[in-house]
Amino acid sequence: MGLKYEIAEDVQNLAKQLISKYHPHLGLAKIAYIFKTDTWKKNGKTILGSAHRCSEKEKLLHGYDFIITLNHFVWATVDVNRKMAILDHELCHCGWDDDEAKFILVPHDLEDFVDVVRRHGLYMPDVEAMGRAMHQLNLFEKPNLKVVGGNE
Ligand SMILES: [Zn+2]
Repeated sequence: MGLKYEIAEDVQNLAKQLISKYHPHLGLAKIAYIFKTDTWKKNGKTILGSAHRCSEKEKLLHGYDFIITLNHFVWATVDVNRKMAILDHELCHCGWDDDEAKFILVPHDLEDFVDVVRRHGLYMPDVEAMGRAMHQLNLFEKPNLKVVGGNE
């Protein structure tokens, strides 16, 4: 049986650009980037990536604050804009808690169903915020992105 993970060498440079532009709190974070090389699905959906905040024990052993895992099959088939979006998503999970002065894992801004929004509209503040963001996006650009799966 072959290894299911490998070090994602090229991802670091893309991540550096995103961190300096959108995630300055991660400037000093030690983040490991790895590829998952076998099939990665959950509830029938292809998983694009995931972010893990390392525990104190893990950090003691290897020094990393976070481990970002990317679906190698997806990564190899998408263009650089899509790669940046996937990576930006995972970096959004990597947060910093000012009160406790420690890294934290940030949950998604929104979890909902398209059918519920179709039936009931923007019925909660988080749904409304996502709706506004999508509406503004449509005004200025038409992203040509084909959805292949979800991010963890
Ligand atoms: Zn996610």
